[in-house]
Amino acid sequence: MSPPFLLSFTFLSLRERGTLLTVSKAWCALLRVGSVHVPRRQAQTEAGNYELLRVLGVGSFSKVFLARHRTTGFVYALKCLNKMEQARLQRIRRVGYEVRCLRCVDHPSVARLITTFQDHANLYLVEEPVLGGDLFELLNGAAGKGLPPAAALFYAALLVQSITALHARGIVFRDVRPENILIATSGYIKLIDFGNAKRLAWHRRTFTLCGAPEYCAPEIISGTGHAHAVDWWSLGVTLCELLTLHTPSPPESGISAP
Ligand code: ADP
Ligand code: MG
Repeated sequence: MSPPFLLSFTFLSLRERGTLLTVSKAWCALLRVGSVHVPRRQAQTEAGNYELLRVLGVGSFSKVFLARHRTTGFVYALKCLNKMEQARLQRIRRVGYEVRCLRCVDHPSVARLITTFQDHANLYLVEEPVLGGDLFELLNGAAGKGLPPAAALFYAALLVQSITALHARGIVFRDVRPENILIATSGYIKLIDFGNAKRLAWHRRTFTLCGAPEYCAPEIISGTGHAHAVDWWSLGVTLCELLTLHTPSPPESGISAP
């Protein structure tokens, strides 16, 4: 209990204290299920403290587990990055960017980073679990047709909101695509995988070639320097895919396509 809480607690009558504790217990029970909002201090920072329940996904550079904290019972997405592998792929700086970006975003449309820790072999990112699948799976289950326009527009509108929120914090995401857009149990989206994200001042450009080629803006491919606008390009490609199941095809004219 925090000191101000303790202080006000001592002035309560026995009956009021009982009511307060019952209400807090009910909240704790609520917080144990579903998507969680957990104070940082409750997330312990040792791999042995987590019971791995199942694999949530395997990314290009990491494995993500659904993990239950042994003492609190809270459930998290535990992203494990092998240190040797990151060093071999020269991604140490990128992991640093990923963590820094996630730390400065606290937005409902981004899977929240709770804490990070490491042991001799791995780096661990403890994140809010998002358990409704991703837009890629949703498209796979769409029986050969795209999503209904209303559904596609709904997700596009949510993406506009998420990208705007990231840009407002100076973050360029650089990996908008259906695999990185998870659906929460509420039906709203949450972005994951900030492995390509970077904080970038408004007047600056950056030159790194990154992101999935089909979704990349032309200025990333050409290497002429890019900034926050690349996320809007990828959003356009994603919307096209949501509606038609295909990313836009290159024009016949032979103009080089992204
Ligand atoms: P990488 O950086 O290695 O590409 P990702 O962050 O993309 O790793 O995660 C890999 C997979 O793990 C994702 O495609 C997704 O299926 C799953 N995943 C990642 N984060 C979460 C999360 N917070 N909740 C649920 N599943 C997740
Ligand atoms: Mg990924």
